[in-house]
This record gives sequence, structure tokens and C-alpha cells, in this order.
Amino acid sequence: MSSIPESKEAETTPETEHKIPKKFPWVIPFSCEGCGDCVEACPTGSITLVDLGKKVDKAWITSPDTCIGCGKCASACVVCAVQMTEYVEKALTRYREHPTPE
Ligand code: SF4
Ligand code: SF4
Repeated sequence: MSSIPESKEAETTPETEHKIPKKFPWVIPFSCEGCGDCVEACPTGSITLVDLGKKVDKAWITSPDTCIGCGKCASACVVCAVQMTEYVEKALTRYREHPTPE
């Protein structure tokens, strides 16, 4: 098991003063069908569809620092291509380091 700590309480990061949610969306681009339902469900515009030159655009957290961890994107996805994870720091690093799906 990974030893990445879970975020128990909302905290702020020094560089952004962003409140870190207790859970964070983990997008699985392989499973995404590009329907856009998660994008429509998101109240903060944190998840968008990215054109990778494939048959369908893929959902991605393009604005991780505005995500409030509400889980509406995950609830909206009927193919479970977005799951809420407690590995918040790992997810934040993933999206900050990869502005588009890898
Ligand atoms: S709701 Fe699911 S399938 Fe549709 S764009 Fe979002 S992640 Fe992809
Ligand atoms: S968890 Fe909420 S704020 Fe974050 S991307 Fe999903 S719908 Fe948007």
C-alpha cells in the first residue's frame, strides 16, 4: 500500500492558499467517452474536455486549484471514468504536472 497521507481536514497550501478538499476526482481517460456530462455538472469549471486528436475528447481536471471536491463530476459519469479518491495530494500533483491526460 502507498503511504501517501490522506487529507483529514481542509488545509491550505502555502503557494496557492487553496483549500484542499478531503476527496478529489481521479479521471480515467481510457474509460472516458467524451460526453461532457461531468463538465456540465461541475460548478467551478475545474473539469473540461481536452482535444487529444482522438475520436472523442477526454475529460481532465484542467484547473485543479479551483476544484472543491464536491464529487458532482463523478456522480454525473455513467461509465465511472471519474472516481473520487482520498489520495488528494497525489491527484493534485497529477493534474498540476500534466495539464492534459497522459
Ligand atoms: S461524464 Fe464521464 S464519459 Fe462523459 S466526459 Fe465526463 S468522464 Fe468522460
Ligand atoms: S469535484 Fe466538483 S468542483 Fe471538482 S471537478 Fe468535480 S464537479 Fe468540479
